Amino acid sequence: MTVIRGAAPGPTVLLLGGVHGDEYEGQIALAKMVRAFESKDVAGTLIVLPSTNLPAAVANNRLSPVDNVNLNRAFPGDANGTPTQMIAHYIEEVLLPTCDYVIDLHSGGSSLEYLPCVRARLSANLQIRHKTLEMVRAFDAEFGVLFRPAKAEPRTMSAACERKGVVYINPETGGGARVARKALQAAHEGTLRCLLALEMIEDASARRSSGGTRTATLVAGASLVHSDSDGVWEPLVELGEAVVPGQPLAAVYNLKKPWLAPQTVSGSIAGTVLCRRAAAWVEVGDCLFEIGVDFDPESA
Ligand SMILES: [Zn+2]
Repeated sequence: MTVIRGAAPGPTVLLLGGVHGDEYEGQIALAKMVRAFESKDVAGTLIVLPSTNLPAAVANNRLSPVDNVNLNRAFPGDANGTPTQMIAHYIEEVLLPTCDYVIDLHSGGSSLEYLPCVRARLSANLQIRHKTLEMVRAFDAEFGVLFRPAKAEPRTMSAACERKGVVYINPETGGGARVARKALQAAHEGTLRCLLALEMIEDASARRSSGGTRTATLVAGASLVHSDSDGVWEPLVELGEAVVPGQPLAAVYNLKKPWLAPQTVSGSIAGTVLCRRAAAWVEVGDCLFEIGVDFDPESA
């Protein structure tokens, strides 16, 4: 953990990478930032954990191999629990009470690929909600994906931040078991733009946000598109593509019976493809795509 206490006053921001070990874009972006900033460059305080669940990261695993616990389902944690539960407890009870903002950099890891987007919960606290939307826009990803408070799951980092009154955003960039330059750039520059918007840094390399983020939400039972057969799948749409109800999104092939027509998988809503499965093999029930539906957060 690196703490950069700025010479000038300002907010305290917790920057997290590697909450899921196999999501490396944020880990690299934050390692760069740890080396780039000194106290004189910062107004306020940056607390940086580039590889928050380090045992998972060095094992190239989403979960920690030490206890097989998902850190993003371990809050509020336990000071006397397993190592991952102890990390969760330290973040929620020691770090978060000192923080104003959390930027929690995730990606598709080895199993998914994301169109760069920022996810956030619409807090019931309108002041927090307003600041959250400011951060979503400052990050300047193509999409902001917003969730209503009612959908809350209490064991996530997002829920921990809500409990402690901390503004939280969760960028998702890249994945596919690799580090793509574009995804790494989105994570790195988006984080710099947030710090710039908070007037914590004056970094000439962080261009100001274009404010061009489109906002969307997910619809239960419709946004996730699953395969209903086993085989190798062919995507019929790309990340970022607009889709309509009934449109064929994927074809699943049975390699042992090449004379059979592939099974077509169709979506049931209109929206934009935000995320896709990375692996070519698919089994019944596996998620192939996530479709975001345009949504105005001011209407929520
Ligand atoms: Zn993740």
